[in-house]
Amino acid sequence: MRKVIGNFKMHQTPTQTKEYLLQFMSKVDGTKNEVVLCLPATSLTTAKYMVSGSNIKLGGQNICDDDHAKTTGEISGDMLKDAGAEYVIVGHSERRTKFKENFRTNNKKIKLAFKNRLKVILCVGENLTERNTLKMLESLKIQIEESLKGIYENELERVVIAYEPIWAIGSGKLPTNKELDRAVKAIRKVITDDFSEKAGQSIQIVYGGSLDAKNVNQYLKLNTINGFLVGGSCLDPLEFATIVKEV
Ligand code: PEP
Repeated sequence: MRKVIGNFKMHQTPTQTKEYLLQFMSKVDGTKNEVVLCLPATSLTTAKYMVSGSNIKLGGQNICDDDHAKTTGEISGDMLKDAGAEYVIVGHSERRTKFKENFRTNNKKIKLAFKNRLKVILCVGENLTERNTLKMLESLKIQIEESLKGIYENELERVVIAYEPIWAIGSGKLPTNKELDRAVKAIRKVITDDFSEKAGQSIQIVYGGSLDAKNVNQYLKLNTINGFLVGGSCLDPLEFATIVKEV
């Protein structure tokens, strides 16, 4: 079983979500894979009633890093949970760039997600400069360690690490199998060193960045990853259903 996560970003109004799910759900019915749709917060409640009883799970795309209810425009863990989310994305590179979020913010968000019984999809990945200057592994280590500071080993079963090289997001560029395998093994080693051998082996790791129904197959032989995070290509229900069925 693989985990296939869709990151819808600012796409899908509640009405569009309804139409999307009507097409998508019939196509993925019976899949063995776990599907997680990270929808805009305004679409979660609509989706909650539609996916109830199916193997489709829902996720939010952000959670506020404080829970004192005095932050205009943000969303809290209990709101996401009540709206139907089981997961929440933390640390997406777009939030790091646009909203200056960092790994300390990630850490606060992860703790608040756990407090609200949400699972976390933690995005990590190197930028192009880090890649070109061979600082990739160092960068991944810092991102993971800062984000997971103070997290207990038994809480790691509620974490999915999404390895998303920043240069691959929305660019059409993909890592080779060798590059991806190396990054995933490096992530497992960080978890092994900081927690345990067992944790390093069992942590769920998915790959995200420029995947589509045509190129996803190239990674199917990699048994170091547990699934995929799909951005642009999840917007077409038929293409996303193809990905879910093929992996
Ligand atoms: C993303 O933004 O998380 C992502 C994976 O996007 P894309 O698939 O469009 O590269």
